[in-house]
Amino acid sequence: MLRIGLTGGIGSGKSTVSRMLAARGAVIVDADLIAREVVAPGTPGLAAVVEAFGPQVRAADGSLDRPALATVVFSDPEARRRLDGIVHPLVRHRTAELVAQAPADAVVVNDVPLLVETDQASSYDLVLVVEADQETRVTRLVQRGLHEEDARARIAAQATDEQRRAVADVVLDNSGTPEELAEQVDRFWAEQVGSRPD
Ligand code: ADP
Repeated sequence: MLRIGLTGGIGSGKSTVSRMLAARGAVIVDADLIAREVVAPGTPGLAAVVEAFGPQVRAADGSLDRPALATVVFSDPEARRRLDGIVHPLVRHRTAELVAQAPADAVVVNDVPLLVETDQASSYDLVLVVEADQETRVTRLVQRGLHEEDARARIAAQATDEQRRAVADVVLDNSGTPEELAEQVDRFWAEQVGSRPD
């Protein structure tokens, strides 16, 4: 098994690269999806979050009220730590389960938006970073429906390109066209994945 950690700032093109890698046969493990799954309605994860933060973080339909929870943890680092202490072990456990289900010779790509921020680079055989210059990312995020100020604030709250580059084994430049990105993904697959010894 080859374990690849895929990361990049918001709007850099991680999800796009993830789809391209899936099309080439990789098994994708999506950290954002898992983080939602472990606190879905009816889960022990959601029950633990409600127990810790009160019934106001559960919406009328039984799902997690994310804005309400964000308000609680926004200005309270201790509350944030408590939340992470509940959610992170559940995410790690579910991630390990999914990786264990992949075939022994699989190429497993963990799509982890906050890989650098959460210091997880050493968990992977290879760290793949997707980059695009900031104005390109803002333009794409606005096209995706975000307000420009929101896009800029989210970019500013994340790690910098330099911090991501410092842990990268391979950097893909997604400032150009999707075709140019696909060519880089093909090259990465041929050089780093297809040619690896079994
Ligand atoms: P991330 O997962 O890193 O937030 P996405 O892969 O969702 O980024 O890309 C952000 C947005 O930009 C999406 O709407 C996507 O379709 C678009 N996009 C990605 N790469 C390109 C590209 N090379 N040219 C034009 N649009 C792109």
